Amino acid sequence: MVKSGITKEEIIAWGGAEVFNQALAMCNAGDVSDVRYDDEKLEISGKIIRENGWGMPVSLTLKDRGTVKSHCPCYHNQKLGQICPHVVAIAIAQMVIEMDDEPEETAETRQPGEDAPGEAAEEEYIEVPMKPAMYAYVSGSRASLSIAVDAWYGDIDFPAC
Ligand SMILES: [Zn+2]
Repeated sequence: MVKSGITKEEIIAWGGAEVFNQALAMCNAGDVSDVRYDDEKLEISGKIIRENGWGMPVSLTLKDRGTVKSHCPCYHNQKLGQICPHVVAIAIAQMVIEMDDEPEETAETRQPGEDAPGEAAEEEYIEVPMKPAMYAYVSGSRASLSIAVDAWYGDIDFPAC
């Protein structure tokens, strides 16, 4: 699998923490679909499922030095020229796909004779705080509410329900 190598820090830098949290809520609510990365165009594209069921096409092109060119039909993006939560949401979804893919890649890249086994084993462990920070992401309307609860151990996010 070809990876964009996109990081959480990079994504937060585009639109700030608030936009990131809104985008994360969309991902947790399952509103993001068809996310893919094109390594020739350096483009991440996908769809945001709106309340009426329409899959809104969103894409972004990765530029040099952490900047990004985004395409989204929404008001924020078109009229205000801002990085919107929709763009950030497909970037998060792509990052998650790449993270899920990692264990396989590690196994592949560790060919016999490469890195010393001791070193490689040590790198796989990271220290995180014992007590997670709990976050609840609420979305929807009075008629239909969804709440996703996440536990953050340092920088690592686990869906708690
Ligand atoms: Zn948008």
